[in-house]
Amino acid sequence: MSTLEKLNKWKKERDAIILAHYYVDEAVQKAADYVGDSFYLSKIAAKEKASTILYCGVSFMGESAKILSPDKTVLLPDKTADCPMAHMADIGKIEKLRKEYEDLAVVCYINSTALLKTYADVCVTSSNACKIVSSLPNQHIYFIPDENLGRYVASKAPEKHMIFNDGYCHVHNEIQAQDVVRAKEAHPAAEVLVHPECTMDVVELADYVGSTSGIIEYATASRAEEFIIGTELGVLYELRQKNPKKCFYAAGGRQCCPDMKLITLEKMAYALEHMANPVELDEEIRQKAKKPLEKMLELG
Ligand code: SF4
Repeated sequence: MSTLEKLNKWKKERDAIILAHYYVDEAVQKAADYVGDSFYLSKIAAKEKASTILYCGVSFMGESAKILSPDKTVLLPDKTADCPMAHMADIGKIEKLRKEYEDLAVVCYINSTALLKTYADVCVTSSNACKIVSSLPNQHIYFIPDENLGRYVASKAPEKHMIFNDGYCHVHNEIQAQDVVRAKEAHPAAEVLVHPECTMDVVELADYVGSTSGIIEYATASRAEEFIIGTELGVLYELRQKNPKKCFYAAGGRQCCPDMKLITLEKMAYALEHMANPVELDEEIRQKAKKPLEKMLELG
């Protein structure tokens, strides 16, 4: 029996669905029932009837699915697949700033641990962050954990006093403006599409800035035939599926998330066979982390 056959056998026996983020390997995306960004996948997890969710992504994504679907079993193919940025905020600093600014709103990017979310007033995704920050009545905003996304939001909401945290995604942070300029010289007709986790000098070179889903939608709708992509390159699979006649080039560096690439078909089959690596959340943390997510749904 091939690994894929084994995986499908266990998927059926465990009444499971497979969710995969755009950044995992192509073979994993092909085997999934749904492919998307983390927020879309969490909503699917809550909506689908299956009792088991095999979440092919990093651990904060599995946590988000569990926060919204407490009665389902959420399994991770590899529990060591973790996003470094999701941990990059200091709770002591949040508490200090709350004392300093009476009307502070702590805005937490959804790419964060469940624990960090419990300290936030509202969560945001890369697609709704600007809209939600602008709609808040608070003047002082502490944006965690990603500084680059925070600076991008600040550029769209100049009326707010934004306080930045020094977290970052190493994959997007490594994309250099000079690489984008070089790619543009090599492909002058190409449009530059980047994720707002990139640094501001890269963002300023872009024709479009948005989430992974936004980049896919933009490229699909655009009349351009060539694109320079500034995000993790796992997204190329979906871009090429939807746009077989268009050309896509990497913006620069390696653009590869080593944690996302830990997910393999073998680990997926093993997790389902043995019901391995279930996401477990303390109920108090789950309830507290759910509030900023619900606030996001209300404002977004
Ligand atoms: S691409 Fe960046 S933000 Fe996404 S999981 Fe990897 S390190 Fe985290």
